[in-house]
Amino acid sequence: MKKKEFLIVFVAFTIFIFTISILSHIKTSKEYYVNLNKNILFQEAKSLFTNMLNTRSWASSHNGIYIKAHDNIKPNKYLEDNIAYTNKNELLIKINPAWMTRQISEITNQRGNYFFKITNANAINPNNEADEFEKKALKSLEKTNKKFYTQFTANRYDLLGALKAENSCLKCHTKGEKLGDVLGGLRVSIPADNYIKSIQAIEQKASNLYIITIVTSIIFLSLIIYTIISLSNKEKRILLLNKTLERKVKKRTKELRKTNKKLTKISITDFLTKIPNRRFFFEMGEKVFFLAKREKIPFSIICIDIDFFKGVNDSYGHHIGDMILKQIANILKNNIRNSDILARTGGEEFYIALNNTDLKGAINLANNLRLLVEKSAYKNNEDYIYITISAGVATCNSEDSFFSLINRADKALYKAKNSGRNRVISS
Ligand code: GH3
Ligand code: MG
Ligand code: MG
Repeated sequence: MKKKEFLIVFVAFTIFIFTISILSHIKTSKEYYVNLNKNILFQEAKSLFTNMLNTRSWASSHNGIYIKAHDNIKPNKYLEDNIAYTNKNELLIKINPAWMTRQISEITNQRGNYFFKITNANAINPNNEADEFEKKALKSLEKTNKKFYTQFTANRYDLLGALKAENSCLKCHTKGEKLGDVLGGLRVSIPADNYIKSIQAIEQKASNLYIITIVTSIIFLSLIIYTIISLSNKEKRILLLNKTLERKVKKRTKELRKTNKKLTKISITDFLTKIPNRRFFFEMGEKVFFLAKREKIPFSIICIDIDFFKGVNDSYGHHIGDMILKQIANILKNNIRNSDILARTGGEEFYIALNNTDLKGAINLANNLRLLVEKSAYKNNEDYIYITISAGVATCNSEDSFFSLINRADKALYKAKNSGRNRVISS
């Protein structure tokens, strides 16, 4: 996998893990607050139940209580010993714990949102007959031995707690019930509006947090991936630019080398005759001279000058003069060895440095060249222009420097000129 792909996978994986952790944290928190609210509701119902149970226990501990009879209360036909009289013959009505609980429940039920009901699957009093929920709750409590059974209905919360048989209960419940048996239950029903509102708010907040987390993660991931891709593209572009630049530099260097080579060639070549120029002759000639001297090899110089060339120019024009110069340069070039150095050193002057050539050989060569020039006329339309050259020859001796050797050859040339031209004189 490439560096870019690895980075993207790594970042995506990290953000995925991070997002899952946050989502799981939100879920846990939501559950915690839902349970907390449920617990508050349960505690509220339970404390109401306990209060009622305590009151009932108090009545039970006195085997029921007697209250003075009045218009709104009649003896309970389901109770034995349901009345008594005071010394003054006032009627007292017996209230057993169950009846007292029912009466308190009724008052509570009339007054507000709270609802109590004392209930029994096999109620002696039909008012206490259990409904579907209560039957189910009682059965469950009997089976599981749990203290409470709860449910949500619409916007209410119901808690049913077991009522266990106490001594006072067994006076009426005489079908074999024992102390501690579940005789029935007390149902507490409380409004759950606030609870429902809280749960809705918690769920709404959790949903918002889910959305915010997921959207933020997606945006963050996209931004990082975009940054990685654009950085990688930038890197690619830079690499490409570098390569292009390298290629261009290579090309330019090659061109420069070629141009330098050309310039070097131009700087050592005579523009008219295309043979080496004076500069090349003196640079190269001196090197070969030193080599020959060290190796004790004979080394000679021929200085050549065209005779009466000014007259040629005057008679035929400079252009023809140039053509003749070229022709003579070619004759010289084609009749010397490759190891010899020929150059045009001045207007109509040519020097030849002859490696491994003694005086005799140099004189012979100079004469051959002279004869070749003499014989080869330059054809100008119908005219033939005959040209001659004079040459001075010198061979290196032990005292000679390159310049003194040239000087001697030049002096010999001068002598050749003075003694009639078209000849070779040696120093
Ligand atoms: P000499 O026999 O004494 O050498 O006589 P000359 O006329 O050759 O010598 P001089 O030094 O008097 O003249 C040399 C002439 O060479 C003068 C000049 O016009 C000619 N010349 C020098 N360079 C060139 C060139 O490049 N092209 C042409 N056409 N003529 C040239
Ligand atoms: Mg001259
Ligand atoms: Mg001349």
